[in-house]
Amino acid sequence: MTGFQQSEPARPTGPVVPIAGRRFHAYTAKHLDELTARAGLSPAERLAVRAVATVLPFRTNAYVVDNLIDWDAAPADPIYRLVFPQADMLPEVDVGRMAMLLAREAPDAEVRAAAHEVRMGLNPHPAGQLALNTPALNDEPLPGLQHKYPETVLIFPKQGQTCHAYCTYCFRWAQFVDEPDLKMSMGDAGLLVTYLLGHPEVTGVLVTGGDPMIMGAPVLRRYIEPLLDPRLDSLESIRIGSKSLGYWPQRFVTDPDADDTLALFEEVVALFHGALLASAGTRITDRRRGGAQDPGHRRGHPYPGAAHPVHQRRCGDLGRHVAQSGPDGHDPVLHVCGARHRSAGLLRRAAGPRP
Ligand code: SF4
Repeated sequence: MTGFQQSEPARPTGPVVPIAGRRFHAYTAKHLDELTARAGLSPAERLAVRAVATVLPFRTNAYVVDNLIDWDAAPADPIYRLVFPQADMLPEVDVGRMAMLLAREAPDAEVRAAAHEVRMGLNPHPAGQLALNTPALNDEPLPGLQHKYPETVLIFPKQGQTCHAYCTYCFRWAQFVDEPDLKMSMGDAGLLVTYLLGHPEVTGVLVTGGDPMIMGAPVLRRYIEPLLDPRLDSLESIRIGSKSLGYWPQRFVTDPDADDTLALFEEVVALFHGALLASAGTRITDRRRGGAQDPGHRRGHPYPGAAHPVHQRRCGDLGRHVAQSGPDGHDPVLHVCGARHRSAGLLRRAAGPRP
């Protein structure tokens, strides 16, 4: 790849921007060259990263870039590695092929066709999950549901098929690329309710995606509220798989619908043991809220937005709803729960019967 020449953009330093009142600002593949230059990558390395991003999705946001990544440590910084593509994520021959196309500024259609071929070789839905775990209603498949384990059904809300930032390890990457045939999604929670009424063995629903917390409160409500139907008396838990607490904590603190979201959770935990799973192998903390003194270990407040003094009022709100009560060795699991469940944790014990 050394034959490809690119100009060296200036290495931006990134201003410190106060979090309060900021609106979500995404960075996508078109920003990659500038951002990877900031990490100190050479022109050839940057081209390789861009080549990977023609095949696999890239998206991050200003909060991750400005507050979570230690740019002095990049590209070795763990959060940088968590969200930025790396050349060894694809076979060398595929990286070379895509890089050649980018270097000669091939037409979009040609790049997309080549990217499609590479993706098809990556086993985008391992273990046949697209076909084998899709349940049916009256012999009609429900492609936005997965029923793999008897007691759990997954729903992939149509409007939740993106994330505040994409993780480089994500096995759901096919949901985020330009491959409609590979996507699982459902826009009608009513079908889920009908399915659950015929399957009393199901005790838990996992709302997944993408990241369901990318949806605004009114849309999220359209998927959650039907599950509060009293006829669903076998249902014990509703879980939402999300990294928003790490990637965009403003979602629960300062976003315009933060209060409405917490109010929805309050309705849910009045009936259920609700859980918001902020799952990751890495504890994500804001290095500007205490982690900066020890960036290698990422110490600091686990809810960076909530720790900000500007957010004291809402910090109280958040604290009422979110308790860090995961099992031993599982501390990134954050539970949204009612007080009586606060010490139990969904992963330790199923919720009891409804009051
Ligand atoms: S937040 Fe979850 S769904 Fe989104 S990219 Fe990361 S692991 Fe995948």
